[in-house]
Amino acid sequence: MSQPDPDLFDQENNALLSARTVYNIESGDANTYRMALGELINCYDQLMRQTRRLIRRSDRQEFEMNQLNHRLTDLANELEHRATHDSLTGALNRAAVIERAQHFLAKNDMAMIVLDIDHFKLINDSFGHPAGDAVICGLVECLRRTLVTPGEIGRVGGEEFTVILPQQDYLQAQQIAERMRVAIAGHDFSLPNASRITASFGVCWMPAGADFGTTYSEADEAMYEAKRAGRNRVIRADQILRWSCDAAKT
Ligand code: GH3
Ligand code: MG
Ligand code: MG
Repeated sequence: MSQPDPDLFDQENNALLSARTVYNIESGDANTYRMALGELINCYDQLMRQTRRLIRRSDRQEFEMNQLNHRLTDLANELEHRATHDSLTGALNRAAVIERAQHFLAKNDMAMIVLDIDHFKLINDSFGHPAGDAVICGLVECLRRTLVTPGEIGRVGGEEFTVILPQQDYLQAQQIAERMRVAIAGHDFSLPNASRITASFGVCWMPAGADFGTTYSEADEAMYEAKRAGRNRVIRADQILRWSCDAAKT
C-alpha cells in the first residue's frame, strides 16, 4: 500500500492544533500557553521566510519568462523578415511581392513597375560577381531614396525588381519610374573606369480585382519593350497596346 503524501504544512498544522487545544482550556497554566505561543511564533517566522523566498523565486521566474517571451517575439519577427525579404538587399522577395500585390489588388487599383538592369552580365564579367552584388544593393538604395510615396520594393529575380504602388494612377507611376531611372543613371556605383549603370522600366496600372499574373506580365512586357527600344527608358503597358493596335491597322 502506498504511503499518503506528507502534508507540506504538517508542522504548522500541529502547531495550530495545539494552539487551538490550549485556547480551549479554560484554566491552563502560563507555561502551557507560552509553549503553544512559542511554537506558533516559530512556525509563523518560518512561513514568512519561506513565503519571501517563494515570492523572490516567482519574481525571478516571471522576469526570466518575460525575457524569453521578448526573445521569442524577436525570433518570430526575424523569421517572418527572413521569409519575406531578400537577404542581399533587404527588399521584399518574390513570394512576398506576389502576396502583397494580391492583397492590394483584391480591394484597390494598383500600379506596378518592373525594372531590369541593363547589360548586367557585362558588369559581372568585367568586374566580378561581388562588384555585381554591390551594384544590386546600390540600385535598391536608389529605388528606396526615390520612393517617397507609399509603395513596396521587391527583388523578384537576380537583377530584376518590382515596385508596387497601391495609391498611384498611371501617370504618377510613370513619373516615379522616370525618377528612379534618372536616379540610377546618375548614381556613382564606384565601379572601375567610372562605368555607369542603367535600367529599363515597364509600368502598368490595373483596377481593383485584377489578378497578379496579368498585372505582372503587362509590366514585364512593357519592360522588355523598353529593352527592345534601346534600354535606359520607361515604357507604359498601355503604350505598347496602343502601338500594337496601330501596327495591326497598317
Ligand atoms: P539585359 O540588358 O538584356 O537585361 O542584359 P543582361 O546582361 O542584364 O542580361 P540578363 O538579364 O540575361 O543577365 C542577368 C545576369 O545577372 C545573369 C546573372 O549571372 C546575373 N545575376 C543574377 N543574379 C545575380 C546576383 O545575385 N548577383 C550577381 N552579381 N549577378 C547576378
Ligand atoms: Mg538585365
Ligand atoms: Mg534579367
